[in-house]
Amino acid sequence: MTPELSIIIPLYNEIEVIEICHQRVSDVLNKLDLEYEIIYVDDGSQDKSAEYVSNLAHNDARVRAILLSRNFGKEAALSAGFDHVQGELTIILDADLQDPPELIPEMLKVYEEKDVDTILMKRTQRDGESATKKQSAYWFYRILNKLSDFHIPEDVGDFRLMNKKSLDALKKLPERNRYTKGLFAWIGMDTFVMHYQRDPRVAGVAKQNYASLFKLAFEGISSFSIHPLRISTILGIISALFGFLFGIYIALKSLILGDPVSGYPSTMAIITFLGGAQLLGIGIVGEYIGKTYIESKQRPIYLIKKLVSKKEINEK
Ligand code: UDP
Ligand code: MG
Repeated sequence: MTPELSIIIPLYNEIEVIEICHQRVSDVLNKLDLEYEIIYVDDGSQDKSAEYVSNLAHNDARVRAILLSRNFGKEAALSAGFDHVQGELTIILDADLQDPPELIPEMLKVYEEKDVDTILMKRTQRDGESATKKQSAYWFYRILNKLSDFHIPEDVGDFRLMNKKSLDALKKLPERNRYTKGLFAWIGMDTFVMHYQRDPRVAGVAKQNYASLFKLAFEGISSFSIHPLRISTILGIISALFGFLFGIYIALKSLILGDPVSGYPSTMAIITFLGGAQLLGIGIVGEYIGKTYIESKQRPIYLIKKLVSKKEINEK
């Protein structure tokens, strides 16, 4: 029987939380009167997470485990999940229970009432996150939205409900550089925003550190906008114009006033400024070329080592 609801949970070294996660998610789902499936995507964990979810899948037909061949990152793990969804509706949850599964019934209710394609969960509070993280998130979204051509909502994560139409649209985006939040926004569709309070992690530590978040931020900007390229062109035009006018000024000054050409410091200042601006421009261009290079290789977004489900085992 095809399930009505599919829950995707990506995992990377989450053995400390997976038991309580499964408990809480199942408790909520069992109270609902619908067929569901839980898809655990193990993103190449080095701990016993993969073994744990494989066991769950062995014993319960409603649970499936997708084991990726190595750590591909959360975005890729989600893609793997999307490709295996059977249900009409899909909900994405973090294994660390920062997105409370207890909200699922309300999400379903709102979905019925509002007749939309996606329910976006927007956090009202970022508990257990440092002031620097909040600040950097704030600035990141401001810059991102200034640069990109469509609005990418702030303070939302991957926690959301999507119907089949939204999911199918999302699956049509084939890029390797995946900034899921932006991809979600790009597909559009009728969206309802629901507010919720994001909990602190139940146990363990965040797997996405500052370096990976910075990478993701850059990914976000360069995947959704080519404005940085345009900015470097404009900067180039402005400085070339300035250089031209400055040249005329110096020529006239020495012709009319007979001033000897002087000014080692100003020459140095201009050379270093222009040198820096050029390197910045080349760097920005390089980022985009790099992206094109990676996309052109057409490698798969993820590779699966093993699929575990009770049905498949019975069929063998
Ligand atoms: N995750 C993953 N692959 C990774 C990093 C994280 O599948 O390479 C999963 C992780 O197990 C968790 C979710 O993505 O279920 C969110 O990760 P985390 O809590 O570390 O990030 P944050 O809460 O800071 O967004
Ligand atoms: Mg987390």
